[in-house]
Amino acid sequence: MGKKKHHSITPLSQLLRVPAGPVSLARYDSKATPGYPGKGRDDADKFTTAILPELSDLQERLYASSQTDPANAPRILIVLQGMDTSGKGGVIRHSIGLVDPQGVQIKAFKVPTAEERAHDYLWRIRNALPAPGKIGIFDRSHYEDVLVVRVDGLFPESVWSKRYGEINDFEAELVASGTRLIKCMLNVSYEEQRERLLARLDDPTKHWKFSASDLDSRAKWPDYMEAYEAALTLCNTEVAPWHIIPADHKWYRNWAVTELLREVLEGLDLQWPVADYDVAEQRRRLAALD
Ligand code: AMP
Ligand code: MG
Repeated sequence: MGKKKHHSITPLSQLLRVPAGPVSLARYDSKATPGYPGKGRDDADKFTTAILPELSDLQERLYASSQTDPANAPRILIVLQGMDTSGKGGVIRHSIGLVDPQGVQIKAFKVPTAEERAHDYLWRIRNALPAPGKIGIFDRSHYEDVLVVRVDGLFPESVWSKRYGEINDFEAELVASGTRLIKCMLNVSYEEQRERLLARLDDPTKHWKFSASDLDSRAKWPDYMEAYEAALTLCNTEVAPWHIIPADHKWYRNWAVTELLREVLEGLDLQWPVADYDVAEQRRRLAALD
């Protein structure tokens, strides 16, 4: 498929990909709209909707490949990380929600349960990996084990500091066994987070989205940014790179994740499975039956 006007001219996978080297989040404008082909908020629905037919076609090819050749079918795993209100749930509703639900596997990671705590931190992650032909989405992930764990000191530094390397090994293993990882840090600003938290408190229909612990995390914002910078720096590998998605504009964030997914699926160059039966013969049989 060639460039369409709703695509980014320079691939988003390049524009949003975090370059190698130390990451300073202060240098990333969370109101930026890299690669957006339209004017802004008013045409975002149109541009996002325009991606859908291609996304559906690509997703169906992915799923079809798993039906005929499960052992070799690729898998996609989108990892969504970001501070509260950055829009992990919003992306799942507005971007991933556009894809056939049968082809999608969503998993949200919460405070580990007693059972999860009894295992290694990657145990629950391994259990939730997408099946062949599926698009997995992680709302939070193994990165919490170097984010909240580091900021809140849930484990000593001697434990979490080893995890960056362990995560790189784990992700390399995933990629080697056929999973394409799309790691997205939804970068919302401190100011925008205040507005969104206030909106949750102002609107009784949004009260359920607010949690008092959101303010505890907000109070530790600089520590979180430092922990994010460490994860974005130390776990930004060639096979599993990070993307920073400016997230102060919800319309941009949703378009960008949709387009990024489309690009990755397109890059897999998925072919329709070839029938393992004689089409002409089946056609004759069908004709004989009417
Ligand atoms: P939410 O995504 O808003 O439903 O919140 C989930 C909560 O679970 C967040 O406060 C996370 O920090 C917390 N959480 C997720 N994974 C872990 C983990 N591995 N250790 C401790 N807390 C976690
Ligand atoms: Mg929350």
